[in-house]
Amino acid sequence: MLAHQPAWLRRLLDPANHRSARRAEKRPYVAAQIEVTSRCFTECVFCAQPALGEQWIAGDLPLEVYRQHIVPHLDLFDLVYLQGWGEPLLHADLWEMLNLARGRGCRTGFTTNGMLLSAANRQRLLDQQVELLSISFAGACPATHERLRRNTRFEMIARHIAALQALKASQGTKFPTLEMHFLMTRANLAELPDFVRLAAELGADEAVATNLTNTPTLEQEAQRVFAARPDLADLEVVEQARQLAEEAGLPFNAYPLEMQDQVLVCDANPLETIYINHMGEVTPCVNLGLCARGAIPRYFLGEAYPTPRLSFGDVRQGLPAALESAQRKAFCQAYRQRNVTANPLVAFSALSGVSPDEQLPPPPEPCRACYKMYGV
Ligand code: SF4
Repeated sequence: MLAHQPAWLRRLLDPANHRSARRAEKRPYVAAQIEVTSRCFTECVFCAQPALGEQWIAGDLPLEVYRQHIVPHLDLFDLVYLQGWGEPLLHADLWEMLNLARGRGCRTGFTTNGMLLSAANRQRLLDQQVELLSISFAGACPATHERLRRNTRFEMIARHIAALQALKASQGTKFPTLEMHFLMTRANLAELPDFVRLAAELGADEAVATNLTNTPTLEQEAQRVFAARPDLADLEVVEQARQLAEEAGLPFNAYPLEMQDQVLVCDANPLETIYINHMGEVTPCVNLGLCARGAIPRYFLGEAYPTPRLSFGDVRQGLPAALESAQRKAFCQAYRQRNVTANPLVAFSALSGVSPDEQLPPPPEPCRACYKMYGV
């Protein structure tokens, strides 16, 4: 099957959502995801940060590095998404960074834990014409959410969302599009239908149910809901949530619970996007660009697969050089060989369901033990 695209990519690729003819011009890359900070106070139980402990490298992308080495090249990208492993609103220069990206004609967005969406920050979102804001949830009630996303306050986040949507209505704008994200784990899946109800009540523009695909410990891996053969009861919960969303008229995107063997490109879409971590390294995605000391711990189907960070270069030595580097070309080439449009045999293998898996050329080596490669 073709890669399942995340909501922000689907929206981005939809010409109906382009604000102006200028935006409809094709840029070479769909998105630059940029980690402005890896600092966070939330301490989510399923996050890599508390799991990595001393291995974690906390820090901010300096404004001057961003201004001098990234901004001049941002017209290569349609969307600039200022999101990595930390909370973007902790970066003192976030608004200036968004402004600079906007000045290069980029659409902008970021994900937040929702705790710092003060009245002043809500107004800034509108003033800066941020197009996409995602807010992360791990439950549909205070007890569950705050147990899993420690150091957050469920009711405060809900108030911030309602206030932002009211502000948008009062100022006659639909931006930023507000997505409420729910990370599906064993500990909270039963609350997904209630989460959809909550999103509808708060006036969210879309609800998204994502999977726990980054699992640096066995305990975290045990929390994943998806599987080669997912439980029927779990599928029914998702279906119930889907029906509730439909009844409420709420767009709802749930990532599949069934792992697929024939995904051609993962939904990080590293052929058309890049991830720049706060140290300034240009990398394929958040998983391979995670700033850790030593190999990044990872578990896949119960086995440990520690993976070295993969950098195509440092922005200080030139972002275009990193994009054109031999390492990136080799990485992308492995994916291109799986491209159905370029290779009819691959098309047969991927789409017919008849050919054995081995006929599909393998993805890049670091992706083979990544759950995103399995379409979940
Ligand atoms: S499959 Fe590869 S490129 Fe995609 S998210 Fe996983 S590690 Fe990153």
